[in-house]
Amino acid sequence: METIGHRVAGRDLPEPSERVAPVYDPARGVQIAEVSLASAAQVAEVVKIARDASTAWGATSLSRRANIFFRLRELLVAHQDDLAAAITREHGKVLDDARAEVARGIENVEFACGIPQLLKGTLSAEVSSGVDVLTVSEPVGVVAGITPFNFPVMVPLWMLADAVACGNAFVLKPSEKDPSPSLMLADLVQEAGIPDGVVSVVQGDREAVDALLSHPDIDAISFVGSTPVARYVYETGTAHGKRVQALGGAKNHMVVLPDADLDAAADAAISGGYGSAGERCMAISVVVAVGDIGDGLVDAIAARIPDIVVGPGDEATSMMGPLITGEHRDRVSSFVTGAELEGARVVVDGAANPPADGFFLGCSLLDGVEPGMRAYDEEIFGPVLSVVRVASYDDAVALVNANPYGNGVALFTRDGGAARRFQREVTVGMVGINVPVPVPVASHSFGGWKASLFGGSPIYGPEGIRFYTRSKVVTTRWPDPASSTIDLGFPTNR
Ligand code: NAD
Repeated sequence: METIGHRVAGRDLPEPSERVAPVYDPARGVQIAEVSLASAAQVAEVVKIARDASTAWGATSLSRRANIFFRLRELLVAHQDDLAAAITREHGKVLDDARAEVARGIENVEFACGIPQLLKGTLSAEVSSGVDVLTVSEPVGVVAGITPFNFPVMVPLWMLADAVACGNAFVLKPSEKDPSPSLMLADLVQEAGIPDGVVSVVQGDREAVDALLSHPDIDAISFVGSTPVARYVYETGTAHGKRVQALGGAKNHMVVLPDADLDAAADAAISGGYGSAGERCMAISVVVAVGDIGDGLVDAIAARIPDIVVGPGDEATSMMGPLITGEHRDRVSSFVTGAELEGARVVVDGAANPPADGFFLGCSLLDGVEPGMRAYDEEIFGPVLSVVRVASYDDAVALVNANPYGNGVALFTRDGGAARRFQREVTVGMVGINVPVPVPVASHSFGGWKASLFGGSPIYGPEGIRFYTRSKVVTTRWPDPASSTIDLGFPTNR
């Protein structure tokens, strides 16, 4: 059986890892490989190589860095289909969705191609007599990225593009559930001309994460994953003196006002709720039906579900693939089984006719869901849409704002005034107005509020550049030596 290893300076580590984990083809439900799980000593080896490479890379000219990123962009475009196939093989999402994931990752590399402009400092001339002040952004050193299973190419590129363009070395610890795409990324990075050791991939589980969080030569940590692990990574990393951004889980609401276009709202609920089998941190999980639109909306969503073809991601007819593991499928299924006992109505049960083999589950729709029920309180991360009915706009906003998560939210309406009020009143980081999955483009930044982001630093875009650099302020005077005097007073600017 194939063993998926690490990638450091173009090769694996000299000693194999003692521990391994299984890697599955979720569409067939069979193990297809095993992945090495790094020990703390192996992580230390990788970090040393990254640290050694970081100094020269940080001193590499901006024009050379930009050139390499243009080349990386071309290579990613040329290999988009190969990357998508690797994602589908281990993650299970359908090929079109995997291609779109790669495209969104490439956006971040395109943004990083503008690094000479992005790293421009500021100069204030003559702040005092003969004194100038200059602020410059310098790399932080070595950045570790710890990523989730659901976007094995895009999320690593969210981090890698800005971190490396800013002049840092980058150590990626991908999810052990779909580890192969990260190795393809590392090979393309090397082919693009990024020097050996600047980008490394170390495979692993909690042991590798702990080793990164406590290693003195790691300066910054970017984490994306579930909320309990995000909180742990944030607390442990900052306790070790590191700069940490930790993006967590979500419970995204889609509020539908009574004046919304019913068909457009139902289409959006289906796309946002069941795309990638609901395994997106920006997936719609809760539809909030306001006033009298509820019955029509539930009927319209239910009527569309039979048209969704569930099947292997590499079959052209499939619209929705399997879940990541059998264990996760059973957990997702338990929300539907348990819903009726808690007082909700199961309108469509996705577990009723799942395709044979593989970790498949059909689309489920629950109505009459309320806070306090498991299906509302927990992140399901699967193809289950819950409908909560409320009487008014104010009730809808109160519901969304009381939720502990604050990643994404959407409003469907034809009323511009209501939309403007909503975007100001809602306590969520990313808002879509008639857009169900409002993932910001790479020239903006991505970040939720509350339990969806620890450390307050959104990822990629302008916020990414800020996170991966530290500023230095230089105050300069070139006095005439003849005018030099001793002055013990605190310097003032007159
Ligand atoms: P996860 O938290 O289980 O794993 C994420 C990473 O942390 C992996 O690399 C994993 O190896 C590591 N890890 C897991 N358990 C750990 C532990 N106890 N200690 C240290 N490290 C550990 O998440 P997942 O299941 O891979 O991904 C799905 C989750 O990620 C969902 O909650 C989803 O909402 C979230 N997510 C959030 C965003 C966002 O931008 N906010 C984006 C994608 C996914």
